[in-house]
Amino acid sequence: MTTHQVELVIPNLGDFSDVEIIEVLVEPGDEVAIEESLITLETDKASMDVPSTHAGKVRALKIKVGDKVNSGDVMLTLDATELVESESTVVLDIEVQKAILAAATPTPTPTSAPTQTPTPTAEVVREPQTGETHSAQLVVIGSGPGGYTAAFRAADLGLQVILVERYPVIGGVCLNVGCIPSKALLHAARVIDDAAAMADHGVRFGKPKIDALALRGWKNKVVARLTGGLTQLAKQRKVTVIHGVAKFASPNRLVLDSGDAIDFEHCIIAAGSESAELPGTPDDPRIVDSTGALELDPLPMRMLVVGGGIIGLELACVYSALGTKVSVVELTDVLMPGTDPDLVRPFRKIIDKRYESIMLDTKVIGMLATVPGIEVVFEGKNAPAQEVYDRVLISIGRRANGDKLDCEKAGVNVDQGGIIPVNKQMQTNVPHIFAIGDLVAGPMLAHKASHEAKVAAEVAAGQKSAFDARTIPSVAYTDPEIAWVGLTETDAKRGGISYEETKFPWAASGRALSLGRDEGFTKLLFDKATGRVIGGGIVGPNAGDLIAEVGLAIEMGADATDIGRTIHPHPTLSETIAFAAEAYDGTLTDLYMPKKR
Ligand SMILES: Cc1cc2nc3c(=O)[nH]c(=O)nc-3n(C[C@H](O)[C@H](O)[C@H](O)COP(=O)(O)OP(=O)(O)OC[C@H]3O[C@@H](n4cnc5c(N)ncnc54)[C@H](O)[C@@H]3O)c2cc1C
Repeated sequence: MTTHQVELVIPNLGDFSDVEIIEVLVEPGDEVAIEESLITLETDKASMDVPSTHAGKVRALKIKVGDKVNSGDVMLTLDATELVESESTVVLDIEVQKAILAAATPTPTPTSAPTQTPTPTAEVVREPQTGETHSAQLVVIGSGPGGYTAAFRAADLGLQVILVERYPVIGGVCLNVGCIPSKALLHAARVIDDAAAMADHGVRFGKPKIDALALRGWKNKVVARLTGGLTQLAKQRKVTVIHGVAKFASPNRLVLDSGDAIDFEHCIIAAGSESAELPGTPDDPRIVDSTGALELDPLPMRMLVVGGGIIGLELACVYSALGTKVSVVELTDVLMPGTDPDLVRPFRKIIDKRYESIMLDTKVIGMLATVPGIEVVFEGKNAPAQEVYDRVLISIGRRANGDKLDCEKAGVNVDQGGIIPVNKQMQTNVPHIFAIGDLVAGPMLAHKASHEAKVAAEVAAGQKSAFDARTIPSVAYTDPEIAWVGLTETDAKRGGISYEETKFPWAASGRALSLGRDEGFTKLLFDKATGRVIGGGIVGPNAGDLIAEVGLAIEMGADATDIGRTIHPHPTLSETIAFAAEAYDGTLTDLYMPKKR
């Protein structure tokens, strides 16, 4: 093993300057490993360790506690026994941290989750690869919340089922790179923010020390536990899982890229969606989609989120809490387009203070990958001339996968944008072939996919079933959470639907006050003629859990009295739904809101 002297430098700190060193973790003579923390820096947002890019023995320190450092300053000299990226002694943040993370990341095994945007890759494990022809009463393409639910329900109804998945791990986007990992990271963000918020109320913690690798490891463990559970459930139900990329060869045959074929009586297409791409985006590891962003690889100092929709804003919340300076650029003049503006307002107030900038009515017209970062050129009302970011998250929506399956060979119609038209039984124009989830019309949500899945499986098994849900709830798991169900005021106004609205402010909720969160509210919309609940929106912590009650009220045709007279536990945030109903009925005593009607 050869050694040679290298200078280790402070990585790219974005536009942070004069950042204080609060701890030096090594001294001359210490042996350090790649990724071992060398010093701890503290910005006004968080403290973070700078890991070693090389293995070797520390020769001399060039810094001490209390020093203020900038990108490129020399930290120490090292007799390196291993060189990671290049012979250069000045290594950029992104390259350094990439190398470190690569060294620290276990080689993907068949049980590890996909880490990139789903695309067929050589990692796919296929079993068997013999050019064999299988047959099934029902074959399901895709193992996301749509596909696995359909397969399991059909098996429970007695069908012999094959589930085909192109990746080695089942669970689809939702479990592997969507709902579940994002919520694990959002939980971490909430803990950080809640802890910081308590400082004003007499409970002070130190600034958080973020170990991005450990956090990523925990998130991956959560995912692995769930996907492992799914594999078990498939076994218990005797659902055969075959790994491979499936395409139609005819109305009753699929072919896999392994050379296998599957003959089927019924097929459910549940192949989901993929992140939409921004044309002209350079190919650079610092530009990621949501899948890349979930890897925290590495934590950037300064990040631009392109797209102010739910997925982008959830990830913005995560990165902001972890200490990154976040900017958001959105083409339209609102965040979370389609959501009632009053629901978004409390969230906007919070992020206006926290984020570096929120650029509405603005678009990205160019990106250039340069050594210091990604140079982004903007155009629009609120456009800065040009900015440089360490990371750019492209989050401009998702595109359905319906047009990637050779559906024409089965005679199945596919609309523009990869959407497959279906009836209420989830049947395509070819009645024994069904389609569900993100690749059929409607919101791209896991709970919609799984409901459609049950309908398709039941119809395939000969049952009379239809998708007749009145509403599909939507939730942004931002902080505060924003949730709505049924008719929105935006849609009511657009459609000329007459409604009445009541709003209960959380500033009058004992539970909200005791959580230190009085910015939210609960609103209900009522049908003017019948008095029934037809919509609702909630903003505040746990809004996503609370909205289920409003959904149930709509499905059951409940009116304000039904909700108001249902005893809600005190003190809870759920009371705010009852209070909003009582306000409509004129029976509310917790606030003075005289009946208007
Ligand atoms: C970051 C992020 C956060 C999200 N958070 C939420 C949330 O909080 N709540 C929510 O409801 N939704 C959320 N979503 C959306 C949710 O993940 C999707 O709506 C849901 O996964 C759709 O389920 P699906 O079964 O239709 O498809 P998918 O989950 O996309 O699964 C499709 C599967 O089909 C496989 N496949 C595709 N083509 C083939 C082929 N030719 N052969 C074999 N297999 C194939 C894919 O590999 C994939 O595993 C989130 C999405 C993202 C990206």
